[in-house]
Amino acid sequence: MIIDADKIAQLRRMLTPGAQRIVVVTHTNPDGDAVGSALAWSALLERMGHRVTCVVPNKYPYFLDWMSNISSMRIFKGEHAGEIAQTIAEADLIFCLDFNMIARLEGMSEAIEANVRAKRILIDHHLDPPHIYDLEFSHPESSSTAFLIYTIIKELAGEEAITREMAESIYVGLMTDTGNFSFSNLTPDLFRAVAVLVEKGISIPYINSAVYNSFTEGRVRLLGYAINKMQTLSVEGVGVAYIGLKESELRRFQFQVGDSEGFVNYPLTIRDVSMSAMFLETKHFIRVSLRSRGDLDVNLFARRYFEGGGHKNAAGGKSFVSMEQTIAHFRASVEEYLKK
Ligand code: 5GP
Ligand code: MN
Repeated sequence: MIIDADKIAQLRRMLTPGAQRIVVVTHTNPDGDAVGSALAWSALLERMGHRVTCVVPNKYPYFLDWMSNISSMRIFKGEHAGEIAQTIAEADLIFCLDFNMIARLEGMSEAIEANVRAKRILIDHHLDPPHIYDLEFSHPESSSTAFLIYTIIKELAGEEAITREMAESIYVGLMTDTGNFSFSNLTPDLFRAVAVLVEKGISIPYINSAVYNSFTEGRVRLLGYAINKMQTLSVEGVGVAYIGLKESELRRFQFQVGDSEGFVNYPLTIRDVSMSAMFLETKHFIRVSLRSRGDLDVNLFARRYFEGGGHKNAAGGKSFVSMEQTIAHFRASVEEYLKK
């Protein structure tokens, strides 16, 4: 991955006045990449002498609770919204990590948009960013935002600026967004980065176990239930699978945020399935998760039919009708999309 040297120089200039008030934000329903990137980047900025507030729109999944410094992360949704909005209003710089559309911050969007004075910097690997940022590091070819953060830190401050804690945060991002180093864009430079993180003293078995082997019993039973509920269809010879989970079903398994993370990937382990969807009912809408393999583009599908987006093989969106209507819309959309 090549990062434009002029942009690094520009970033360096932006960060030169000391003790600036900086807000680092990442997307709603933050995943390992979002949280890992935000923690590592915030740690670097703090080491540079800035006053940093790291914010997520809502709670991160509980399997990230063990991460160092996670308690410093502010959660916008809830009792502290007003106070955090004030901090955002006073910020000199706002870093947007692992998303590119401000609307993806949901309830926090307004607070970000209200500060028209702060310079906004994008560091992200999603497709088609809107050109609303003062500085843009948009690299869809990067397997994770964490890898982008690693590369930018290296260019800006050198490997020596990375502490063991930062290395751990970065590794969580690399690992979760690449499906434990099994998806696409697995470049030699990515593995060179992992080598450096190991030199910093991280324990891969520890991180792996902390993230992947720390689920509740409810989550594992919910997975079994979800797989049993899965429906499949075949359109033009393309196998499609989907799972819908309603709030009443989730409650039966003591659902917590993050419990359904990864469910959508399982149907893709079926030989003949090339597209997988999951519909998760929340209080205000149904969250749509999409995965595909090969050339089948679910980013386009999410944009066209579910007010969303993402990457070619992993995307998401929303639906504001009932589960039954959502599934009917999905089936009709798949027919139309795959027949084109
Ligand atoms: P997930 O299914 O893991 O929630 O999301 C998969 C990918 O789709 C992520 O890269 C995420 O950023 C993107 N994504 C999920 N939901 C939305 C959405 O509502 N809007 C957009 N633009 N992207 C989404
Ligand atoms: Mn990501």
